[in-house]
Amino acid sequence: MAKVLGIDLGTTNSCCAVIEVGSPQVIANREGARTTPSIVAFTEDGERLVGQIAKRQAITNPSQTIYAVKRLIGRKWAAPEIRDARDHLSYPIVAAPNGDVKIRVRDRDYSPEEIAAFVLREIKEFCEEAFGEEIREAIITVPAYFDDSQRQATRDAGRIAGLEVLRIINEPTAASLAYGLEKTKAHETIAVYDLGGGTFDISILRIDNGMFEVLSTSGDTFLGGEDFDRAIMDWLLGEFIASAGIDLRQDRLALQRLKEAAEKAKCELSTTHETTIALPFIASDASGPKHINQVLTRDRFESLVEPLIQRTAEPCRNALESAGLQPDQVDTVILVGGQTRTPRVQQMVETIFGRAPSRSINPDEVVAVGAAIQAGVLRGEIKDIVLLDVTPLSLGIETHGGIFVKLIERNSTIPTKNTQIFTTVSDNQNVVEISVLQGEREIAKENKSLGKFQLVGIPAAARGVPQIEVTFAIDSSGIVNVSARDMATGRAQGLQINPAGGLSSDEIERIVAEADANKTLDAKKKELRRLKNKLEGLITGNERIFREFGNLLQPDERDRVGRTLQVAKEAMTCEERGDIDNALLDMQGVSRILTNAMLYKTDKPASAE
Ligand code: AMP
Repeated sequence: MAKVLGIDLGTTNSCCAVIEVGSPQVIANREGARTTPSIVAFTEDGERLVGQIAKRQAITNPSQTIYAVKRLIGRKWAAPEIRDARDHLSYPIVAAPNGDVKIRVRDRDYSPEEIAAFVLREIKEFCEEAFGEEIREAIITVPAYFDDSQRQATRDAGRIAGLEVLRIINEPTAASLAYGLEKTKAHETIAVYDLGGGTFDISILRIDNGMFEVLSTSGDTFLGGEDFDRAIMDWLLGEFIASAGIDLRQDRLALQRLKEAAEKAKCELSTTHETTIALPFIASDASGPKHINQVLTRDRFESLVEPLIQRTAEPCRNALESAGLQPDQVDTVILVGGQTRTPRVQQMVETIFGRAPSRSINPDEVVAVGAAIQAGVLRGEIKDIVLLDVTPLSLGIETHGGIFVKLIERNSTIPTKNTQIFTTVSDNQNVVEISVLQGEREIAKENKSLGKFQLVGIPAAARGVPQIEVTFAIDSSGIVNVSARDMATGRAQGLQINPAGGLSSDEIERIVAEADANKTLDAKKKELRRLKNKLEGLITGNERIFREFGNLLQPDERDRVGRTLQVAKEAMTCEERGDIDNALLDMQGVSRILTNAMLYKTDKPASAE
């Protein structure tokens, strides 16, 4: 049976699992790591790097290293969250004419979906290598609070990467699936507290004889580990101004170094009580170079991040309230996301729910494992589990006077469908416009517009007489379909919502075609780099031997080897595969000559005896 990937496409890291012989397995990437940084970088020579290799060079290439793209995906430029992100990202983002967000890399603009697709493609490829077969299908997880545009954009990212996304599922739902599989209890109420790199989600779920139901969700799409790093950075920046009188805020390279050091210190403080942040040569002034050498205690760290940790309490209370539960009615609290490793976060969870959280599942992998289990359920490889998910925001239409009428309430179990009858507001009105909205506000324009369409050809009648039936349907991935029907004529208008932030199918085709066209080019570049690495190794090795044993060669051989080494070094700057291949062959010849010379040297004393 063809494999289906379960992918946790995270803000900071992504993780992938599949079902193997009936149980979920996390797939390690090419470097052997079980999570892959969701980072894409573009180097000066036009190469694209993904994952750890991109993260490693971030410090020297901050403006072309794209991270945290999940914060941008499916959002419009005007969104307040984008304004906030703009101030903190080290790479430039710009507004497209249609209000979308684009990421500018030199002379090219990328949509967030395209960048996310590079990460997905990398995952797809290392999984294909691991299994030696093509993989075309996936289940991708998203934060519970993602609206329809963000879900649609995530799906688009999958398509661009060559993956058919069978389902988009909520991260906390996936986590509880992973958890529930190990449990044998018939009934259990679970709270999933997910504090990852960029988002916070809290969900309350019930497991009933293998059936999962999400009772409520809440969260904060702009709260995560990166804010913890930033709190440490801000503190470091303040301390440095106080001690050295230098403001590093404009120095991108220094900021990158501070960011890395802050994250490292934060992770260390999960197990130690004190750590030292050392950043030599971070700046210089007339008096010479300046260094940062700062001790950060766990107490100090906790006071820096306390406001962030406190911010998780209210969504938890809201989720409990929506589910109609008191904290003591929750049987188990599970932790998801690397940031929950901070002990103070765990204490907070205990304070809110009155019980210690369970930590039996690896918080970095649990979501991907859950996605793989869901794939197993779809494929029939895993039985006895049914998954009921909920829609995170209400959906409805704008009615007369700019009022929002909800057809589907937030936290409704999906898939779901609802129909309501509307009418006209003026006599002989033959057109109605259906404006589809998502949100919780009563005033239509305060909610997010998902699209508009018109139903035309309504027969002349007095206002209030025509009956227009509007149907909302949400499929199991949370994707919305809306239709309107004039009951008198039966004339209907189906709406193909092109959600704000989503890409049109033309655009997707273009991006897919572009990605495919670049695939060969990328593969060629990769191969060239591999060959050059090999050549470089041979040149270095042969040069060393030549220095040591060159005097054992005949003069003409010595000249030849010297010249060949020179030519090979020149070939390192060539971009033609043929030149590199020739140089490699020449280097093999040189290796043979030098090996003979070495043998001759070691043979000589023996024959002299
Ligand atoms: P995730 O999105 O689940 O990959 O979470 C990533 C976040 O968890 C990042 O902000 C990491 O810095 C943070 N993180 C990872 N390991 C630890 C740790 N040992 N202690 C504290 N935070 C951590």
